[in-house]
Amino acid sequence: MRRTNSETPIPNPQHLLKNQPPTSNPQPLVLLTPGPTPIPPSVLAKLAEPILHHRTVEFGAFFERVIQDLQYVFRTKNTVLLQTTSGTGGMESAVANLLSPGDKTLVATAGAFGNRWGKILKAYGFLPIIQEEEWGSAIDPNRFEALLKTHGKDLKAVYLTHTETSTGVVHPIEVLSRLIHQYSDALVVVDSISGLGGQELKTDEWNLDVVVSASQKGLMNAPGLAFISLSERALQVMEMSKCPRFYWDWRTMKKSVPNKETPYTPSVSLVVAQAEALRLIKEEGIESVWAKTTRLAQWTREELKKLNFPLFPHPPCDVLTSVSVPESVNATELVHRLLKDFRISIADGQEKLKGRIIRIAHMGYIRKEDLQRGFSALQTCLTDTQKK
Ligand SMILES: *Cc1c(COP(=O)(O)O)cnc(C)c1O
Repeated sequence: MRRTNSETPIPNPQHLLKNQPPTSNPQPLVLLTPGPTPIPPSVLAKLAEPILHHRTVEFGAFFERVIQDLQYVFRTKNTVLLQTTSGTGGMESAVANLLSPGDKTLVATAGAFGNRWGKILKAYGFLPIIQEEEWGSAIDPNRFEALLKTHGKDLKAVYLTHTETSTGVVHPIEVLSRLIHQYSDALVVVDSISGLGGQELKTDEWNLDVVVSASQKGLMNAPGLAFISLSERALQVMEMSKCPRFYWDWRTMKKSVPNKETPYTPSVSLVVAQAEALRLIKEEGIESVWAKTTRLAQWTREELKKLNFPLFPHPPCDVLTSVSVPESVNATELVHRLLKDFRISIADGQEKLKGRIIRIAHMGYIRKEDLQRGFSALQTCLTDTQKK
């Protein structure tokens, strides 16, 4: 293509600086979904910077900072790896790198994301033992303990979910981890994709061997990066395991870490932006972020109670709130209308909860004023439906 002076200039992306997508609808978009979540303006600005080459000292400095600050957020001294993939890619790598054909595993689940562990394991030819609890409740430690008493000795890994984003429950990870170590040598593998950076999580103190997270929820970045922390035990198992893997191979990723790089081209912009988001979290302090998220969760629940939406999960997590909708309301339609007429983006239930619950996030960069706008639109929507 020939460039001429008359070529239309690239418009100044003002919407970027205002943290808004380009749209003909003048109302600002309020993103209250449990991933992706809105990201701070300074993080968004990093995404608009010129691309760096990934085998340079400049990029290496960003990479190193991200790994170190992730260790801070994960509360760990363990190895942390970074992959260009969504959270599910991180989960898949925690199957491909830890197991060999025929290995026995246990999955404790009460929702769509817990079930995802089971689906990945089955895709790789494993037949996990599954403890399934009712959606909306947490894993019952007594039933979990009974399973460990019977099968603990044979298990290679136990797959858990920290905050079950499909129902809004928080599972008792600390308790479950203690039980696993009591009855078994199995690795404790935790999906904290929506939990990390919002819900209290202490990788080393709770003896978690593998924790998987991602960039687009509590970590205030765009989607596209997965992060994994690995204990010494997990590193040893990884060296021995025989599942085929190439892109997912943690051995090659780990070898690259001392050189401050990844084996293949990472999403450089996301890494640079992640460094900024983690800087903000560190500046605030992870304990303060947890406390702020708890306060926002309590306030959200009070507001929803006023609107007659009963809390759905027991016990609820801090990073999102899911509530049942009244019989007369269809959650799917409500979610659709909030977005279309008010540009408020919240989430419907997933799978068997579709149409029955709504989910509103309060993690990461979501602020009280964003939620307030959501609630006022929700109220208008409800009043309108009642008039009909
Ligand atoms: C969002 C989420 C995932 C899936 O992550 P993707 O980035 O969409 O692949 C998995 N587990 C939990 C608990 C989540 O919240």
